[in-house]
Amino acid sequence: MIEKRSHAEDAAYQAIYRDGIDAYTKTLPRLRQAFELEKKCVSCMDEGTPGGTHAAGSGMLMNDVELEQYFAATKPDEVTSHEGCGAAKLYAEAHGLDIERSDHYAQEWAKHEADKRGLRYRHIAAADMERPSEGHFARTCYYDTTGTFNWDAAEGLAAGFVVSRKYMTPEYALREASVALDIAFGDHGLGTKLLSEEKPFLLVAIAEDAKQLAEAKKELGRLAHGRGKQVRIDGFLKPRSEKN
Ligand SMILES: [Zn+2]
Ligand SMILES: [Zn+2]
Repeated sequence: MIEKRSHAEDAAYQAIYRDGIDAYTKTLPRLRQAFELEKKCVSCMDEGTPGGTHAAGSGMLMNDVELEQYFAATKPDEVTSHEGCGAAKLYAEAHGLDIERSDHYAQEWAKHEADKRGLRYRHIAAADMERPSEGHFARTCYYDTTGTFNWDAAEGLAAGFVVSRKYMTPEYALREASVALDIAFGDHGLGTKLLSEEKPFLLVAIAEDAKQLAEAKKELGRLAHGRGKQVRIDGFLKPRSEKN
């Protein structure tokens, strides 16, 4: 199932690997729609839960200061959790909790954070997610400095993990990108069978202007992932005019 979903994106990735994602996105007539965020919710970085702003486990891996800043900056009206959350497993691990019950902790955590702030809480079941429940097929992590990006809203964009870099410190955002890499290369992701130097995992910076884009790509370059050319840094600009 993961392989099948991955192969559905082969043509897009062929073009992206060959021409770069900036050139590829310029061929998408509806790209602008990917930047018209409707939902004001905080969601997981998981490619199965597009829409809203994104952090691992909706912010579950942040410390208190990072989390307060994230909520203050994103001003959401809803907090979500989802089934089969990899970040929740990391959370359980870090807190010495039962990993088998990680979904339970994720729900508890998200509901608590929502209640505390008077926000709505919503759980996303596997059947309502945009990926097969067995794992992740995303071969891209979008590193979004615009804060409004949703790959699912524009036809032709590949599914991807999303890190809402705009609302995080560079240090924390890079930790998130690193979590995305661990998931993609782990046994719930494409792994090294489907990710290679020829077909690398992409860290994709998204920015409003060329200067920001160059900075975001440089920032991603600081990530010591130890996977060589199996990981490639790329990036594209949010389209400017209505016509794009
Ligand atoms: Zn998750
Ligand atoms: Zn996972």
